[in-house]
Amino acid sequence: MAARTVIRMGHPTLRKIAEPVALSELATPEFKALLTDLYDTMKAEGGIGIAAPQINVSKQVTLIELPSNSERYGTLEASPVFIIINPKIIVFDEHPQGFWEGCLSVPGLRGFVERPRAVKINYLDELGNEKEFIAEDFLSTVFQHELDHLFGKLYIDRITDTTKLSYIEEFSQFNGAKKEDALDE
Ligand code: ZN
Repeated sequence: MAARTVIRMGHPTLRKIAEPVALSELATPEFKALLTDLYDTMKAEGGIGIAAPQINVSKQVTLIELPSNSERYGTLEASPVFIIINPKIIVFDEHPQGFWEGCLSVPGLRGFVERPRAVKINYLDELGNEKEFIAEDFLSTVFQHELDHLFGKLYIDRITDTTKLSYIEEFSQFNGAKKEDALDE
């Protein structure tokens, strides 16, 4: 098991609707290896989430884990590792909130995106159990960014004010006070 190459914007896999995972796949060694590789890739790249299409596997699988202690996300509460399979998402609180987002598949950039404050996600875990989770605040944005990857969308599609799209160096220089609000997925 190992970290895999993250594909970048322009690769057609990132624009496809990913295939749902069949229940019969969950127990296979191939699927378990996919989960391990996703986790290893997320850690190797320093991300807080990763979706299978980002390693060129067009399946509806994504991992999310907010770190417990890091310079960048130090003010956040750590999350468990979420393994999200075949998700359905609905808006739970449409009140918009904005965060600076980054993406492992769009390296070098940060963009300010407004998304609903809370969403409800129904999904399968890696054992095939049906789960429901309400993601709020920062975690809501993380889930929405990640689930977008399963449906062919990138965060830059959600930017409504393109003056708030920046290279990381300029972002640090001119938005330093808000640096910790950015995420990489
Ligand atoms: Zn991303």
